Amino acid sequence: MQNKLLLIIIDGVPYANWRGFFGNLEGWVEEGEARVWRMRSVLPSTSASCYASIHTGVTPQVHRVTSNESIFRVAEPDVFSEVTKAGGKTGAVAHSFWSEFFNRSPFDPVRDIEYDEQGQSPISHGRFHTMTGYGHDNQMTPCDADLFATLTMLAERHGIDYGMLHTCTLDSMGHRFTHDCIQMDLACFKLDGQLAPYITRWRNAGYEVVVTADHGQSKRGHHGGAEDMQRDFALYYFGPADGPAPDALLDQCQLAPTVLKRLGVPVPGTMLAAPFLD
Ligand SMILES: [Zn+2]
Repeated sequence: MQNKLLLIIIDGVPYANWRGFFGNLEGWVEEGEARVWRMRSVLPSTSASCYASIHTGVTPQVHRVTSNESIFRVAEPDVFSEVTKAGGKTGAVAHSFWSEFFNRSPFDPVRDIEYDEQGQSPISHGRFHTMTGYGHDNQMTPCDADLFATLTMLAERHGIDYGMLHTCTLDSMGHRFTHDCIQMDLACFKLDGQLAPYITRWRNAGYEVVVTADHGQSKRGHHGGAEDMQRDFALYYFGPADGPAPDALLDQCQLAPTVLKRLGVPVPGTMLAAPFLD
């Protein structure tokens, strides 16, 4: 691999919340250590559809994950499959949908909650959770600090070249409390504070880091549709590559080929969007 990179997906954070409440990330932007752009999700701006597009670089109209109920092993090449094919080590700390899309489906919790399959599977080291029993009043989300520590363990113990972390805490908070409230202000504040020391640790270990969301949310705590608030989120990049002008609007399908390009992995012909980092 030419570089190492960690992709951090914080589920369901609209653009304004990123820019308004993530003081550490914004501080690094102000200091010039990170850059930030606005990115727009695919349609539908539904979680499962977005996860599949983030990693395959194709739209839901192509990969056919059109709702949170259509979960299957996707056919298109994705970031895990291509990094593994190129001889790299991958890691994932995420909701079980990610394992189903990019390794195997259905998800067997005993077999798939934790696996180490370097050289046998697209995901060399997987650590997953299902959120079984999730509902409006019962988030069933793991602690974000524990997830950040788990990804760090995969980096430091297993030497992964590419790692993806995904957490649903803020999406669940948004569905439950909506956005103009102290609960959401504090939830963003807490997550930013838990993430910040790990960003420093990952950068010191030589990783480029991307922090972003899968989609936004409306003021009422909804997403899936075409409103800007439901689709748009911020993308923060820590690394040496050059990017577009600060006011560029990035397309979510650009993320997969951008990650592969940074790692030095050939971009498959299915990923038609242009990488945004040079
Ligand atoms: Zn989501």
